[in-house]
Amino acid sequence: MKESDTLMTLSDTKVLLVDDDPAMVRLLSKWLESGEYSVRTAGDGDQALTAIEEECPDILITDWEMPRMDGLELCRRVRQLDLPHYIYTIFLTVRSTPSEMIEGLEIGADDFLSKPVYQGELLARLRAGTRVVELERRLSLVACTDPLTGLLTRRTFFESMEKEWHRAGRHHLPLSCVMLDLDFFKRINDTHGHPVGDAVLSLIGDVLKQSCRASDEICRYGGEEFCVMLPETDEQEAAAWAERVRQRVASLIVPVGNHELQISGSFGVGQRHDDNQKPADLIDQADQALLCAKASGRNRVVRYQSLSNINELNLDSSGQQGGLFHGIVARHVMTPLVVCLREDETVGQAAEFFLRSRINSTPVVDADGNITGVLSEKDLLAVMVSPACWKDPVREVMRPSIISYDEDTPIQNIYEFICRVSIRRVVIVSGGRPTGTISRGTLLRWFKNLVTSKGLLEDEPVLQTGEVPDPHHSKQRLAETARELAHQATELERRFEEDVEDLVPYIVGGATGMQGLVNDLLAYSRFANQTTGLGNGMQSLLRESGLVD
Ligand code: GH3
Ligand code: MG
Ligand code: MG
Ligand code: MG
Repeated sequence: MKESDTLMTLSDTKVLLVDDDPAMVRLLSKWLESGEYSVRTAGDGDQALTAIEEECPDILITDWEMPRMDGLELCRRVRQLDLPHYIYTIFLTVRSTPSEMIEGLEIGADDFLSKPVYQGELLARLRAGTRVVELERRLSLVACTDPLTGLLTRRTFFESMEKEWHRAGRHHLPLSCVMLDLDFFKRINDTHGHPVGDAVLSLIGDVLKQSCRASDEICRYGGEEFCVMLPETDEQEAAAWAERVRQRVASLIVPVGNHELQISGSFGVGQRHDDNQKPADLIDQADQALLCAKASGRNRVVRYQSLSNINELNLDSSGQQGGLFHGIVARHVMTPLVVCLREDETVGQAAEFFLRSRINSTPVVDADGNITGVLSEKDLLAVMVSPACWKDPVREVMRPSIISYDEDTPIQNIYEFICRVSIRRVVIVSGGRPTGTISRGTLLRWFKNLVTSKGLLEDEPVLQTGEVPDPHHSKQRLAETARELAHQATELERRFEEDVEDLVPYIVGGATGMQGLVNDLLAYSRFANQTTGLGNGMQSLLRESGLVD
């Protein structure tokens, strides 16, 4: 934070002067203006409250005795308001007995000024008040802004978004949100050190500030993540804005020593849809779109709508595929989830769970059964090399960003999503609890079954007499697998004859490989004698071969 950002001049100090005596108002206003304060006036408590609602002053000077609402009542009400900052309050009073001063202070007065008022005392007391106001401004600036980038903190951003949210609702205005996450930022830190990483973050903060309008709000959402709120902007416009920022970021060249550093970022864009949503839902949508931007190659902008909007689908809904989707929702197609991993289970237990259930990813739930993350084999692989991690809770290694759809989501939306992004599986939820998953394999299986049931597949080839039917080449695959198994066993045997210090790694490695081959043999075994064509067997084969789940 720069010093100049916080220093206040007197004319920055906004004073609201309240007195029912117009002569007093005229005189004090003149003195205040001579002291270069910016002054507004009100003739009674009601007018004062309206003026405060319009623009919150820094200092309130109020007469004690006024008709209808006196200064005490005004001060009491002001202290109950939810205002953007503290109002330093000075009472003008003819009486200042200790008990009255105590009453005033208890209600929220900061200072008193006795009538008749002297110009020098008025200005001196205002200067004292301004010191308090300035201190409060500095403190709130520190609390509201991220010191590295000068952008809003997450909390302040949420507050501001909450207000904008309701304004958008009242006036039927669009409101969009953009999430930005820098690509491979860890590498920048790892290669060039944290100070360079910090400089890049600060630079990105500047790019965002330069790219935004005054009504937009930008926050540093987390380490190398930024969130921008764009009022009166729909998703398409927000995506166009994000695309411009993406290009600006990608064209930055940061000199580091005799090196030139290039940066890129991935963007997710979402738009407020209706009043049933919360601001957090909008951020979540932008975040889901961001996740897809990451998963589909980084350095790109992805719109939430493009993940879920049927209208943007390339399929002709009157055509065959649209017709196939008609009326089908996630619940009809998903693979139901029987058990989920709990976030307090250990990495070791998770590995065991994966191996036993022959799955490669699973939703993770909390003690109440609500979804909190996703864990994949890849996440386990990343930590398993350190044996101490096997005792860590799953919570620490799972990914908290989940792409989930409600059970009632039309299957067409999910199909569209899975076709576009490289994410293989989405979680289906009902009231926050995972109830199933839909993967590429699930969709493939469902399509296959549907197409078969509608008789849309061409007839199976008719076999000539004497021809040996083996449409899946099962026998050939079995033979190749058995041959490979024999080869691996021989290799292992050969190791025993070598002068190897520690045989265990070879045995564990060899056995693991052979275990896989044995599984393959078992999977194909039931087709070894098969003589009929496609049908149930095909589906089982697909399932066993891991092509579908
Ligand atoms: P991806 O493209 O998937 O987003 O990869 P990434 O490396 O950007 O993401 P990852 O989440 O693995 O790493 C984020 C890094 O950001 C790790 C952390 O050290 C760094 N980071 C977070 N806050 C700061 C900061 O204030 N200063 C610096 N220099 N680095 C930070
Ligand atoms: Mg009066
Ligand atoms: Mg990140
Ligand atoms: Mg990143």
